[in-house]
Amino acid sequence: MNAAAQLDYRSVIVITGPSGVGKGTLVRKLKAQIPELTYSISATTRKPRPGEQDGVDYHFLSAGQFAQKVAAKEFIEHAEYSGKDYGTLRSEVDRHLQAGAPVILEIELQGARQIRERLPEALLIFIAPPSFEALKTRLVGRGTDTSEQIAKRLKTATGELAARDEFDVQVVNDRLDDAMTELVRTVRDRIAGSKG
Ligand code: 5GP
Repeated sequence: MNAAAQLDYRSVIVITGPSGVGKGTLVRKLKAQIPELTYSISATTRKPRPGEQDGVDYHFLSAGQFAQKVAAKEFIEHAEYSGKDYGTLRSEVDRHLQAGAPVILEIELQGARQIRERLPEALLIFIAPPSFEALKTRLVGRGTDTSEQIAKRLKTATGELAARDEFDVQVVNDRLDDAMTELVRTVRDRIAGSKG
């Protein structure tokens, strides 16, 4: 039998939410609280930001390298976001599941929808900001994007927020501690359930 057919995709946990909502911080804290969680390193054609490392934060690829992987069907999902390509490598997810570890995917909406279709057992969590204004303030305050990039990300965010009801669970990131408590409980429940 094909080993991949035996993998339990219930321990795939998808975290989606608009850029600037604090997904990165939540995922880092989540991993600190639930050490068995692993993180699937995505591939992208965007350039590394200061401090980001290839193979750690992302697999940074050229457009040609990314297209080759699409053609070879190496991605479980992939999408264009703010003019760049992003994708989840099946090899990344499967190697963690094969080792018995639950996997977190921190991805945008189109990718989450593809996961919903291709891995229907996965748990989809949406991280929402307390308001659109709060999101704008956070994106500007982060200081990592140009005003043009911020405008693009906010436009995308409008569509993402409209899709929040498609998710299994919604967590509002207003007070970080409250959002963390809810997220940890949700993820622990799922991990315990998928072991049953
Ligand atoms: P950033 O450029 O800020 O690192 O990421 C931009 C967006 O791409 C974020 O919403 C992030 O969650 C999403 N993203 C990161 N990796 C992937 C991936 O593998 N697939 C998809 N569909 N989105 C991703």
